[in-house]
Amino acid sequence: MTETLDISITKNQNSRLAQTDFENLPFGRTFSDHMFVADYADGEWKAFQIVPYGNISMSPAISSLHYGQSFFEGLKAYKHVDGKVSVFRPYMNAARFNKSAERLCMPQLPEDIFVQSIAALVDIDSNWIPTKAGHSLYIRPFMFATDPFLGVQPSQTYKYMVLAGPVGPYFTKPLKVKIETHFSRSTEGGFGYAKAAGNYGGAMLPSRKAVEEGYDQLIWTDSKEHAYMEELGAANVMFILDGKLITPSTRDTILKGVTRDTVLQLARDWGYPVEERRVSVAEILEGAKNGKLTDAFGAGTAATIAPIGVIEHEGNVYTLPDPTQREFSKKVLKTLDEIRYGVTADPYGWNYMV
Ligand code: PMP
Repeated sequence: MTETLDISITKNQNSRLAQTDFENLPFGRTFSDHMFVADYADGEWKAFQIVPYGNISMSPAISSLHYGQSFFEGLKAYKHVDGKVSVFRPYMNAARFNKSAERLCMPQLPEDIFVQSIAALVDIDSNWIPTKAGHSLYIRPFMFATDPFLGVQPSQTYKYMVLAGPVGPYFTKPLKVKIETHFSRSTEGGFGYAKAAGNYGGAMLPSRKAVEEGYDQLIWTDSKEHAYMEELGAANVMFILDGKLITPSTRDTILKGVTRDTVLQLARDWGYPVEERRVSVAEILEGAKNGKLTDAFGAGTAATIAPIGVIEHEGNVYTLPDPTQREFSKKVLKTLDEIRYGVTADPYGWNYMV
């Protein structure tokens, strides 16, 4: 750890906490009382501040709006049964933050600044962390270009900010998913592995079409043949096929999820054979037909462990085993919750205590 970050703090005098309905928390609509802000100029990060959550004023020419030099992260803070507060594996997000920055030709942010900014915000807004099962404080760090300049070139100035807000479960029922065979989220040599804002903008039309057809989510496939599984919406996708945990190996087109890494580690420690490799659509559909596909789920920070109930591929619909009877995904979710809410010990050191 470097020295403690020198953060100027302006407290919110009009807290919205008392008016917030913690029984009704649609994802991403409720924000805590404060936010973190820092500026990049002259080759360094400066002006670290925590200020009341609110609007910011910017030139309409800022290059992030025009050319997409903008990316984000997503992680969560949990309140433990004994009242302590932790953030789940923030250094993994810090490393991925810098991978995204590198790919978008944006400046690196020292990992300790990333983690300390989050810890400071979570600490000041710790009363916003819900205590209900499945609930947490979602944390949204992001960076964007701020040069008021319409030339297509990397900005010289940037802002780094962190928002936070209480959330409940993102998905509340097993997912009905469509395997996408026309659109692509990303391509070889592209930037699917980065959390670039543009990856999510480009995914909206295909996702909306899938919703209009009656599905909850898409499974993205490779852009060349649409024959290999890539991701499930904004989560990684995992299968138990023939008793083995199988997931697409990470590459240019796939975001390397923190939840994915966590599930793989648990599975290995529990003695499940684990395969990170190309996963063909054909083998998964075959497994769905012959009963060897016993579990399938999305793994992500917002999604947590989201079971897939039904898969559609080119007009054929496959119903997977009853999610309430699935051994692996239920055990993963239970184990993760016990660690994150401090019910059991944290043998992996995944909880960063605030
Ligand atoms: N893939 C994509 C495209 C995502 O946006 C996310 C969410 N960050 C994930 C996978 C899952 O990553 P993580 O487990 O780190 O949230």
